[in-house]
Amino acid sequence: MTHDILVVGGGPAGLTAALYAARAGKTVAVLERAVPGGQIVYSPLVENYPALPGVSGADFAAALAGQTEALGVEIITAEAVSAVRTEGGFRLETDEGAMDCRTLILATGVQHRALGLPGEAELVGAGISYCAVCDGAFYAGRDVAVVGGGDTAVQDALFLANLCRRVTLLVRRDRLRASDAAKAETLRQRDNVELRFSTTVEALCSADGALTGVTVRERGETAALAIDGLFLAVGQEPSGSAFAALAPVDAQGYFAAGENCIAAPGVFVAGDCRAKTVRQLATAVGDGACAALSACACLERNG
Ligand code: NAP
Repeated sequence: MTHDILVVGGGPAGLTAALYAARAGKTVAVLERAVPGGQIVYSPLVENYPALPGVSGADFAAALAGQTEALGVEIITAEAVSAVRTEGGFRLETDEGAMDCRTLILATGVQHRALGLPGEAELVGAGISYCAVCDGAFYAGRDVAVVGGGDTAVQDALFLANLCRRVTLLVRRDRLRASDAAKAETLRQRDNVELRFSTTVEALCSADGALTGVTVRERGETAALAIDGLFLAVGQEPSGSAFAALAPVDAQGYFAAGENCIAAPGVFVAGDCRAKTVRQLATAVGDGACAALSACACLERNG
């Protein structure tokens, strides 16, 4: 079967694209290598999505996936590894076999950035984590640090403050970058949270294969910080490199496309993988709608 539209990535952007395309009467399927919902699944509390105050990321993702599937969209657990143009559209190679489509929507999202320190990769799962919601409970009653000054770092530090004895937020700048000032203020009020600015992690300390602490550089001075867990929230990198031959990317590797989400003939991009300045849940679903409607218009034009 050749789908009208295949969507690569089942986060909020990809699922919204599928929802709009299905409602427009197109045959559409979503390929997602992990759980539907993308990174929002790991947000404990989404407080800035219009009309849904205080929804958990997991509940939001489940509702969106359910709404999309109810329209007949198949969410396929598969990893798309490459795509090529064919006479009638595109052929996707996935770890579950090849799939054909007339148009393609890339909603491949982003992946976690690492600090790049010696020993870091080996300590992931042994003291280092990228996901406070997934791993926070392992550190209940213990001391942890979060690295980063963006919205994810603030959100993770707040989540961990409810579980851990002490949370130290290590921010390399002299201020937070987080856009959610209300959440940042809540964090500042927490007794068991310390914000340390102009501070970078210089080295990881470990014993018997597990993290025991970090060495930090703070305003020119080096200091040791004993912690049981280190949560990295230092931003993300685009994860759509397998499709870079089909859609142009910018210097950072994000798909270059404007608000209409048109990347190349028959190729549309949506969500955090698109070059843009604001990456929020609301802008991801907005992209999904735009990409789907652009794809539908393309299908109508081409009969
Ligand atoms: P981000 O906004 O890119 O912030 C990354 C943070 O990590 C910055 O503070 C950055 O410092 C720091 N950093 C980068 N590399 C570092 C390094 N090697 N060592 C130490 N610190 C380093 O990433 P994010 O917080 O994951 O957010 C990504 C997007 O999702 C943003 O658009 C954000 O608004 C959105 N988001 C929104 C919400 C919400 O609205 N509630 C929640 C989560 C995420 P500099 O500032 O110095 O670059």
